[in-house]
Amino acid sequence: MDYRFTKSQQELREKTAAFVNKEISRELAREIDRVGEFPHELMRKLGEQGFWKINIPREYGGDGGDVVDLMIFFEEISKGLPVLSWTAGDVLLYGNNILKVNGSEEQRQKYLPRLAKGELTFCFALTEPDAGSDAANIQTRAERVGDHYLINGSKMFISGASVANITVTNTRTGPDRYKGITSFLVDTTTPGYSATPIKKLGYKGSDTCEVYYKDVKVSENDILGGKACLNQGWHQMMRLLNGERLVLSACAIGMMDTVVKECVAYLRRRKKLSGPGIRFQDTEHKIAEMATHMEAARQLAFYAAWMMTQEMECIRETSMCKFFCADTGKKVAMMGMEILGAEGYVMDSMVQQFFRDIPILAIGGGTSQIQKNVIAKTLGL
Ligand SMILES: Cc1cc2nc3c(=O)[nH]c(=O)nc-3n(C[C@H](O)[C@H](O)[C@H](O)COP(=O)(O)OP(=O)(O)OC[C@H]3O[C@@H](n4cnc5c(N)ncnc54)[C@H](O)[C@@H]3O)c2cc1C
Repeated sequence: MDYRFTKSQQELREKTAAFVNKEISRELAREIDRVGEFPHELMRKLGEQGFWKINIPREYGGDGGDVVDLMIFFEEISKGLPVLSWTAGDVLLYGNNILKVNGSEEQRQKYLPRLAKGELTFCFALTEPDAGSDAANIQTRAERVGDHYLINGSKMFISGASVANITVTNTRTGPDRYKGITSFLVDTTTPGYSATPIKKLGYKGSDTCEVYYKDVKVSENDILGGKACLNQGWHQMMRLLNGERLVLSACAIGMMDTVVKECVAYLRRRKKLSGPGIRFQDTEHKIAEMATHMEAARQLAFYAAWMMTQEMECIRETSMCKFFCADTGKKVAMMGMEILGAEGYVMDSMVQQFFRDIPILAIGGGTSQIQKNVIAKTLGL
């Protein structure tokens, strides 16, 4: 089994790591977490350096990368500033990937070149107050009025919604739970659209919002995939799930990597201060365990990604991966906090920042419980 990264994937890893090293100092990461503002400047720099082209097909001027390329990028960015991976998702996942997988030819031509240049950001609006894990319960309606549609309702916890140019909005267009959902590309300057940011524990700066739609007028050409895709929204979302789960897993791996490195650096410092007579075997064992958990997560994630690139059925593996990486990430972050003691508890510590950031990976993109439901189902339960 050939399990090596290609030369261009290795180069992408080096380029992304170099970006993190040069552009994201600890001070900047702490400041973004403290202020909680969307990292516009870093997003602009990522665009300038060509990162938004990673997963755009070559025929639209992109680099033609696949899910493995995305995972490499998200893993490396998450090592330095986890929230930047979340905001990068507003271009790479909710823009490029959604259009690549589900967009019409006209929509790809219209948006992909501008996404590649960093001129646009998207966001994805599915969750509602009564439709989180039970996503098919959405009530935001799009009603046909003459030659257009009017959207009315509200969405909850939508990342990037007040900075996005386009909100991919999932609406109810028919009575059937699954075959009555349509996804619209909503221009956020349209009258009747508004978004209010919500304060949260971690991933500060990702601009998670409550979104309101009051008679927001869209045309049938704004249906994701074109007018033939009326009532195809659920099916379109299902096509995105495996990729999203893998990318979120990569975020957890990147964060674990930093927590482990922080703990190694801490223990080395402690050993120097304490002199040769004192051993820290218990702490060494904890760090060894953390590193092993992280490696197991990484292997599972890239194995599932390899299956996806081979077009093999991999819904069980991607669900296992998302659940395992997110939950292992939470455990590793907790162990990191224990190892660092008071040094980990202060706001200057990176580990506490990651400790607050990482739980979202077990919530967004389907909670760990939902992943276990999927795994159980594939086992015939
Ligand atoms: C920071 C952040 C960013 C987000 N960004 C976006 C975004 O950009 N776009 C978007 O559409 N949404 C977004 N979300 C919403 C996210 O997708 C939902 O929070 C998630 O799907 C869970 O829904 P819920 O919070 O309503 O929890 P609920 O569905 O109410 O679940 C509550 C608890 O019950 C459990 N549970 C629920 N149903 C079952 C079941 N059938 N079996 C077993 N256990 C179950 C859950 O696992 C969870 O532990 C974001 C959320 C956060 C916190």
